[in-house]
Amino acid sequence: MDTVRRYAMFIDGDWVDADAQFEIRSPATEELVATVAKGGREHADLAIAAAKAAHADGRWRKTAPAERAAVLDAIAGRLTERLNDLAVLEALENGAPVRQAGAFQIGFSIAHLRYFAGQARSYAFERSGPLMTVPTLATGLVRREPIGVCGAIVPWNFPLLLAMWKIGPALAAGNTMVVKPDEHTPLTLLEFARAAQECGLPPGVLNVVPGEGPVVGAELASHPDVRKIAFTGSTAVGREIERMAAGNVKRITLELGGKGPNLVLDDADLKLAADGTLFGCLMNQGQACESGTRIIVAAAIHDEFVERLIERTRTITIGDPLEEATDFGPVISAEARDRILRYIESGQKEGATLAFGGGVPAGPAFERGFWVEPTIFTGVTNDMTIAREEIFGPVLSVIRADSTEDAIKIANDTEYGLSAGLWSTDNQRALDVAGQLEAGTVWVNDWHMVNAAYPFGGYKQSGLGRELGPHALDEYTEEKFVHLDLSGRLDRRAYPLLLSTPPA
Ligand code: NAD
Ligand code: MN
Repeated sequence: MDTVRRYAMFIDGDWVDADAQFEIRSPATEELVATVAKGGREHADLAIAAAKAAHADGRWRKTAPAERAAVLDAIAGRLTERLNDLAVLEALENGAPVRQAGAFQIGFSIAHLRYFAGQARSYAFERSGPLMTVPTLATGLVRREPIGVCGAIVPWNFPLLLAMWKIGPALAAGNTMVVKPDEHTPLTLLEFARAAQECGLPPGVLNVVPGEGPVVGAELASHPDVRKIAFTGSTAVGREIERMAAGNVKRITLELGGKGPNLVLDDADLKLAADGTLFGCLMNQGQACESGTRIIVAAAIHDEFVERLIERTRTITIGDPLEEATDFGPVISAEARDRILRYIESGQKEGATLAFGGGVPAGPAFERGFWVEPTIFTGVTNDMTIAREEIFGPVLSVIRADSTEDAIKIANDTEYGLSAGLWSTDNQRALDVAGQLEAGTVWVNDWHMVNAAYPFGGYKQSGLGRELGPHALDEYTEEKFVHLDLSGRLDRRAYPLLLSTPPA
């Protein structure tokens, strides 16, 4: 990078600077990529006030859903024109290999935004209820109304995509928003705000305030004027958000951690399963909440599978995320690297066999930046720390299972329940096993395929509520029943209950 970009916050349709600044550095090189205004509580409050005023005067919620859809589609179009630039920006801010960033971080964001534009058009914002005739003629309407000011707090691994899962349905439904990006990755979200501004989204409807979690995030989660908070991140912070939101009984959506079990059944296509397993665990350097990190393998095929897994891991190209050929980049920060390396150490101490990787890759390309090799442990048992805690890095734990029942039992023996997956050539058997896994998503012979038309979210401590899917707007609307008396003969229904004499 020869130019260091400078970004401001986006509040009430204006770009607002601050004295305090975040330095955004490439996790691959530690080079300065951008400086970003760092919001405080007062900026969060300004943004909340702007969103509240925009909700109150109806500048967005009173527009026709088709009009809102047109604005969202226009933003998607603008992002599509800039897809390559945005993929590079994503690679610079979070280290995602640019090929993957284009397809996943940015490509899915655009596709999902378009889905939500479609939802604005097709969602049943109002439907009439059954006609009542006894004892008098009456009917009802059921309306879905925007909730008001919605807050969103997102992490750094898929910053734009995970924001889109909140911004898309919130804006489609007519809400106003304040979004807090992660400290490491505000850039693509600020570019989104710029695109929204260019496409005519009215001021105050979307506000983006970069800031620290315990400052700006906590303000959003606890502020009485924020009526809903949606969060993606760690389970520990999710619990904290839930507590803060309780203050004004906020609606909440939480997408939290995972420890995804990946079952390789004895009839799996082993070539497919090995590549799919690597994809399932190592995409984004293992920094995905719905990764398959516990590889539960049928004893009959265990050795052959592991051999193939290791052989294929050797072919992964590690390096500069800006290169098209790169498969695997750095992790987000020095702290993340050190945490992952400590987990690797714990695996060795607790008796797992380090079968591949386990360290920092060697060579001049890896002297700067934050790197961890793809790492495979075999001989893991489900009580080891590496099988219980979310590592959020490129570490696969291979666990041997004696039977399919055993594999299912191990799979469900976790506090998490975000994702699971299995490999089998027998679809009926796959479906039977899928039915026994406690997870919000089960992939059969695939992984990571989040699809806007299908719901995403966690069982157990992996979260609360669902994002995406046909009911996504339910989470961003209040349901209202309007009763209409059509008879004018209230005396026949209500008066006898309280007043014995009809009006004069
Ligand atoms: P994190 O929970 O620390 O941070 C996520 C977001 O929460 C950031 O924007 C951060 O600033 C904010 N935050 C932190 N402390 C806060 C507080 N006290 N109040 C309000 N906001 C606060 O997560 P991390 O460790 O940076 O990211 C990795 C974690 O995120 C992993 O544990 C992973 O499981 C989880 N994650 C989950 C999903 C999912 O969809 N379920 C997706 C991505 C990441
Ligand atoms: Mn964090």
